[in-house]
Amino acid sequence: MGENEICFEPADRYNAFLTTCKRAPHGQGKLAGVAIAVKDNISTKGIETTCASKILKGYIPPYDAHVVELLKKSGAAIVGKTNMDEFGMGTTTENSAFGPTLNPCDTGRVPGGSSGGSAAAISGGMVRMALGTDTGGSIRCPAAFCGIAGLKPTYGRVSRYGLIAYANSLEQIGPMGHTVADVSDLMQVIAGYDRRDSTSYNKPYTHTPCADIRGIKIGIPQEYFSAGVDPGVAAVVSKAIGRLEELGATAVPCSIPSMEYALAAYYVICTCEASSNLARFDGVRYGPAADTKKSWHEAYQEVRRAGFGTEVRRRIMLGTFALSSGYYGKYYAKAQVARENVKKDFARIFSEVDVIAGPTMPTVAFKLGEKSDPLSMYLTDILTVPVNLAGIPAISVPCGKAGGMPVGLQIMGRPWEDERVIDVAYASEQGCV
Ligand code: GLN
Repeated sequence: MGENEICFEPADRYNAFLTTCKRAPHGQGKLAGVAIAVKDNISTKGIETTCASKILKGYIPPYDAHVVELLKKSGAAIVGKTNMDEFGMGTTTENSAFGPTLNPCDTGRVPGGSSGGSAAAISGGMVRMALGTDTGGSIRCPAAFCGIAGLKPTYGRVSRYGLIAYANSLEQIGPMGHTVADVSDLMQVIAGYDRRDSTSYNKPYTHTPCADIRGIKIGIPQEYFSAGVDPGVAAVVSKAIGRLEELGATAVPCSIPSMEYALAAYYVICTCEASSNLARFDGVRYGPAADTKKSWHEAYQEVRRAGFGTEVRRRIMLGTFALSSGYYGKYYAKAQVARENVKKDFARIFSEVDVIAGPTMPTVAFKLGEKSDPLSMYLTDILTVPVNLAGIPAISVPCGKAGGMPVGLQIMGRPWEDERVIDVAYASEQGCV
């Protein structure tokens, strides 16, 4: 495939796309003519944007997200909107209202989630790059499961303007691609200040990956190799870290004790934020039609019952409960304390090492339908959510296979050191071929 060639094949064997677009005219710029897929929770002017939810069926945004404006300016061709877990709530893309996406590496397995459509579109050879979003691992998990690269940028580095919010204090839009160089190229286009996002920082990204990692110190948290992590996955990741040492890096053991509470804190905070963010969907302008003869309250209930899937309703209820009078201090306030402790643990470790490395996910991709109870699904996010609680950058890069399926190496960095995370991943990738 030529660098600037549109390679989009509408034949979508993996249900990676919810909407495909006619070939967009492309101009000049860094990504001139490059086919890019965009996750369906990112607003695209004139192109249906559903968040894989029935409640947004038929919604055509009147404006582009900041990142989409930047993509268009760079000359990229947006070829479609990708499947996802409804509103980003899930780890497998099975929570889509429009059917699951299949993993191109093994179509009997999930692609990971929630940006599973974006990962499958890349892994299946339909596009070179895609945008995903990561609230608790949704870029890194599908990148790991599908054998591609994906970066969760430092919180504030990429504008969230036009991203339909799930849990806004945790999430970032980020680049996904076949290689770390693709991820870096896309990051150059999407990062930077935007006055329409009050959490946006003026930190453009102009870096080109460099594989020289001599002298870099890598923290290896014991919690990332303990119970619950598949020994096959741990072995592949340890070997990848060994290769980084051969390239001149030093591995140093460390510990993140706050991980004991990180997952619980994440699920309290994300459900609280979701219950508030999703209150706006009332079915009045799009989605399932409301019965106009009913009272507003009844119609609102009916539309939301019909429009939201089981997992979304579960999370709205959990979040509403946690925020209700008398419970706020017991759940939300405690979760914020745990979040601070996670931040402090990372700050302490980063005063001694440059990056932290471990597996992205505790296992390889699950079989379709394998995880049926929500709790066991939530538990699989344990290695990705600490990053979102702390707002730091992290990448998943393929580092080998276990049982024939791809394994992701996760590299986490100090805030605003997305460049360093990219470099270590780039070095690992070079050693992997
Ligand atoms: N699996 C996590 C969740 O369900 C993360 C999702 C995401 O990052 N959007 O919340």
